[in-house]
Amino acid sequence: MAASIIDGKLIAQQVRARVKSEIEKTGGGFKPGLAAVLVGENPASKIYVRNKRKMCEAVGIYSEEYVLPKDASEADVLKLIGRLNRDSKIHGILVQLPLPDQISTRRILDAVSPEKDVDGFHYNNVGKLVANVPGFVPCTPLGIIEMLDTTGIDIQGKHAVIVGRSDIVGKPAALLLLHRHATVTLCHSRTRNLEAVCREADILVAAIGRAHFITGNMVKEGACVIDVGINRLDNGKLAGDVDFDAAQKRAGHITPVPGGVGPMTIAMLLSNTLQSALWAKGK
Ligand code: NDP
Repeated sequence: MAASIIDGKLIAQQVRARVKSEIEKTGGGFKPGLAAVLVGENPASKIYVRNKRKMCEAVGIYSEEYVLPKDASEADVLKLIGRLNRDSKIHGILVQLPLPDQISTRRILDAVSPEKDVDGFHYNNVGKLVANVPGFVPCTPLGIIEMLDTTGIDIQGKHAVIVGRSDIVGKPAALLLLHRHATVTLCHSRTRNLEAVCREADILVAAIGRAHFITGNMVKEGACVIDVGINRLDNGKLAGDVDFDAAQKRAGHITPVPGGVGPMTIAMLLSNTLQSALWAKGK
């Protein structure tokens, strides 16, 4: 039987509705604020930031964007972040990656106040995630958990296999699943017998960055397959890291690309910004 499709667009919409209603319910002029910082004119980043602005408006989050020239110095970016750290209208600061070579990404990410680090990239928040105490968690892995929960997939005791160990997706996804009592295997380019390892997965998360890398025979019968990959094919279409048509025949649940994990990332960013504003308010 073909797998049920997990509709990321719909779940993201539900998350946004929850954020909107929480903001309205809080009342009293409560207005979370998000600032996005871009260095250089990358068209894809500009589209992403434009989408964020529209979504912010729709849920009642105040937003600002700063576009610095591509030859901006590290000092310029640090100065802007310092100002945003002190701005009480702003509860979330997002620095669009990648940054140009003259700028140290780590120094910039660690300059963002941990209390406004809605992307969860500051080392304080990374440490909190490892220790499983409240802090900001990167938006894409948070979106994966939200999708599993909304779909009613029980995580506890399951074998979760994640392919890809990046700091923004694979590693935090592994920690979140571990904290939810999955048995976790984190794979990467040196993993041996990857096919066999993937076939053991009750929950298979693909975050590799290679179109159709996960083939049908890597999917266990009835598994839940979460495809994080976003790859542009030669024909201009988007494709995930999973061979969807083949995997769908074996999986129990599967996320499509587009319309799966992608929309969840921005929704969770809005949710983190709300959380930040509530924490700032002492809630
Ligand atoms: P990275 O390039 O940072 O990491 C890729 C990972 O895949 C690495 O850990 C790498 O292993 C592993 N890998 C590469 N080749 C193989 C292989 N042959 N076998 C096993 N593992 C392999 O990618 P990201 O985590 O940033 O992104 C992954 C994908 O997710 C991309 O397509 C990206 O566009 C997408 N993405 C989507 C988001 C969304 O909102 N939906 C958000 C973020 C990313 P090693 O560490 O050994 O090199």
